[in-house]
Formats: sequence, C-alpha cells, structure tokens
Amino acid sequence: MLISRLLRGAYSVMADKFNVVFVLGGPGAGKGTQCAKIVEKFGFVHLSAGDLLREERAKPGSEYGELIENHIKNGTIVPVEITCSLLERAMKESGKNDFLIDGFPRNQNNLEGWNNQMGNKVNLKFVLFFNCPLEVCTQRCLDRGAAGSGRSDDNIESLKKRFDTYMNATMPIINHYEGQGLVHKMDASQGPDEIFAEVEKLFS
Ligand code: UDP
Ligand code: MG
Repeated sequence: MLISRLLRGAYSVMADKFNVVFVLGGPGAGKGTQCAKIVEKFGFVHLSAGDLLREERAKPGSEYGELIENHIKNGTIVPVEITCSLLERAMKESGKNDFLIDGFPRNQNNLEGWNNQMGNKVNLKFVLFFNCPLEVCTQRCLDRGAAGSGRSDDNIESLKKRFDTYMNATMPIINHYEGQGLVHKMDASQGPDEIFAEVEKLFS
C-alpha cells in the first residue's frame, strides 16, 4: 500500500519532468539545420537559445536588448539568468514535454545557472555534439551572412570572437558531459542530409 503510493509518487515526478536534449557545436556547425529536421521527423520542440535572445533583443523597450546585442556582436555569453528564464518560459508556454535546446549551455555560468534553476525539473537525455572544422564553420557563416542572414555576428570579426568563446568556454562544457557519458559526437562537416542520416539513428 505504502510502496505503491511511493511508486506512484515517483512516477508522477518523472512524468512531470521536461525531457531535454542539448545540441552543441561551433558557430555554423549546423545545429539549427539539424534541429529542424529532428522536429519534422520526431516531433520535438526546438528552442534555440540564440533565437530566443534575438527575439528578446527585438522587443521594443526590452530591458536587456542592448546588453544582448553587445554580447552577440562580441561573441560573448549573455548572463545565464536571462537565457535560462527565456528557455524556461518557452518550455512552459509550449505545453509540450520533449525539447531540443540548441546552443546552450555554452559556459560554466550557463551550466551552473541551468542546474540551479532547472536541474530538478529536467531529465537530460543526452548531448548532441556537432563537431566541425573551424574553416568549414567559418565559410558556412560567411556564406550565410552574404546570403542575407541579417545576423550582426556573421562577419569575420565577430566570428573570430565566437570561435574563441567556443574553444575556451563551450568545449569544457562538452567535455564535462562527455565525462558523464552523455555526449553523442557527430561529424558535422558533411552535407545536411548525410549528417541527418547519422542523427536519425540516435532518435529512432
Ligand atoms: N548566446 C548566448 N547564450 C546562449 C546562446 C547564445 O549568449 O545560450 C549569444 C552568444 O553571443 C552567441 C550568439 O548568441 O554568440 C549567437 O548564438 P547562436 O546559437 O544563435 O549562434 P551560433 O551557434 O550559430 O554561433
Ligand atoms: Mg543557431
């Protein structure tokens, strides 16, 4: 009697948790492209931390607009309180349970803030890591800029800074999850369809 009640309690706690896959990789590694394909085939909700920040920046009178723009142009990381609140709000508003969180957590501050705010509310399934050589990523971002991405950071000056941040701040986070056996590393230097052929094996 007591045991079945305890089990039911444990089950409802599990069922209430958000399922999360973190999607990480350098600028231009193809995180957004692959997430769109995963959504189409497997029905996750895709939340790009960068897109949420750009959306917040664009709100007229946003308290954080200028701060966000400065970080984006300089390739540095917005304080976690802002990013994590945007993510949590989007998760709640979606009314769904399974999320791809793209481009987060990117540094130690992100990781700690997330664990504090969301650790108990989330079941982290794994980390999808798109590994791509710097030259390939740079070219993709420059092409994206030239094709009219409209992004204030798809230029060579911002890209250098984004790569510095990626190597110095984000790789340690990927290594941290690697140590927990949570990372699935993908070769992201091929075309979108070739990469997705590997990605979909993970979700099937
Ligand atoms: N950014 C941030 N925190 C995040 C995600 C993004 O501060 O959790 C900022 C950061 O300045 C980053 C920019 O937003 O360089 C663009 O991020 P996005 O993920 O859109 O770009 P990409 O991964 O393609 O470089
Ligand atoms: Mg992106």
